[in-house]
Amino acid sequence: MAYDYDLIAIGGGSGGIALSNRAASYGARCLIIEKDDRMGGTCVNRGCVPKKAMWYAADMAHALRDAPAYGYDVKQAKFDWATFVSKRENYIGNINKYYVSSFEKNGVDTAYGHARLVDKNTVAVNGKQYSAERIALAPGGAPTVPDIPGKELAITSDGFFELTSLPEKVLVLGAGYIAVELAGMLQALGADVTLGVRTKQFLRGFEPMLFENLSDAMQADGVTLSTEFTTAKIEKQDGKLTAHSESGDTLTGFDQIIFAIGRTPATSELGLAEAGVEVNDRGYIPVDKFQETNVPGIFAVGDVTGAAELTPVAIAAGRRMADRLYNGQTDRYLKYENIATVVFSHPPIGTIGLTEAQAREQFGDEVKTYETGFNPMYMSFTEHKVRTAMKLIVVGSEERVVGCHMIGLAVDEMLQGFAVAISMGATKKDFDDTVAIHPTSSEELVTMR
Ligand code: FAD
Ligand code: NDP
Repeated sequence: MAYDYDLIAIGGGSGGIALSNRAASYGARCLIIEKDDRMGGTCVNRGCVPKKAMWYAADMAHALRDAPAYGYDVKQAKFDWATFVSKRENYIGNINKYYVSSFEKNGVDTAYGHARLVDKNTVAVNGKQYSAERIALAPGGAPTVPDIPGKELAITSDGFFELTSLPEKVLVLGAGYIAVELAGMLQALGADVTLGVRTKQFLRGFEPMLFENLSDAMQADGVTLSTEFTTAKIEKQDGKLTAHSESGDTLTGFDQIIFAIGRTPATSELGLAEAGVEVNDRGYIPVDKFQETNVPGIFAVGDVTGAAELTPVAIAAGRRMADRLYNGQTDRYLKYENIATVVFSHPPIGTIGLTEAQAREQFGDEVKTYETGFNPMYMSFTEHKVRTAMKLIVVGSEERVVGCHMIGLAVDEMLQGFAVAISMGATKKDFDDTVAIHPTSSEELVTMR
């Protein structure tokens, strides 16, 4: 049967774009459909990119704070939110344009509007139908909002990127990547931030020493940490917001409250039932190692699969899929292990592989750890000290490195190279045999005893 396309991708975000461009580069006839009026998806428009730009701005606030310690006569610097946001959005606009030109260059057709499956080979958008031999679902997700009274008074990360001025007093509710990133940035840029977590800690599931160090650093920066606060209701009085907890506590006087409690996959309006595609109880689409759903010919990549919700993961899954389907690389697929990730907190966190607890669960007494903690040289001059901490998890007599967890200045840029070594199966001896670069913080990773 003749189809309009070889491949239709639903969703013009990290996964859909990478897949379509790679497939088209091999000669596949591709259509990508995006419901927003611009391509790029979460990462570019309301995720990684605007976040990282703000992280740089926040980092600069810290550099300005530290500058006098290095002999600079710096006046109290004022941050102009509106100027910065306009530059940030201009930068994003250029990326949006780049995507459109990349589609033109690669011969990928585009359509804008909400796409819905009609059957396993047909997609409807804006009253038109397109058929394809294969369909890839890459619709990502949206911030989760809890169903509590007053929820409409709060914003999410999407609303954060729409703010036109710096809120004076902010409550961030949540305990993952976004909560700690937004809390850190807002505090550095001059807001008075409270981070409300429902348990005793944030970043649960990460190596515990990361929480301990980040918690100290954030509180030293002025963030108030409110633990065991499960929000039951939000109210507004005299222009200020109050959050009430399930146990009757209140946090009050806020200009903004931000939910950062995870994301919900965008699968409810996709017509999955019409095509027979299964979702799990959390709305994610299960796939096999080749990204194929339960329906042959329908694939899913990126956040919607519920696996490591990171841009490079969505990109890698999409590109490998194209390599396999349209370039004869028959056994190419993404292995979802040893994925390095950075939390852009202040200071940043870099982590890859197993935590000590996960390693002990898998390897028992074969696990050994190496740890170090120190004030980096940069802090020898400054009044405000931020410690660096590192932990290696190794296994067996050969001491294969199965986990590496770091927090401190520059670990965000340090991790990628170590990730290559760890993915290749490096041992502690390989680390030790590597001549250090001095004076750096990264040299500590190859000199641990
Ligand atoms: P998305 O990028 O979400 O793209 C999906 C696209 O599909 C969207 O454009 C959406 O409009 C569209 N769509 C949905 N339904 C339909 C439909 N029915 N029809 C047509 N189009 C549809 N990851 C990192 O690696 N590093 C970071 O620093 C980082 N920071 C982040 C910060 C924030 C605040 C957030 C929210 C996320 C961050 N992420 C980060 C995660 C990253 O953004 C996602 O993992 C990535 O965008 C997932 O790509 P995707 O293609 O699966 O989905
Ligand atoms: P996360 O899944 O990282 O964290 C959300 C956390 O909020 C949960 O782990 C949970 O922690 C807590 N939580 C869940 N429900 C509630 C609730 N009802 N009330 C209070 N707290 C709750 O989600 P994020 O929204 O932070 O980010 C989504 C994903 O986007 C991330 O997982 C990550 O994959 C990606 N991302 C990546 C970034 C990066 O690479 N730097 C940056 C930002 C996002 P607990 O159970 O401990 O309370």
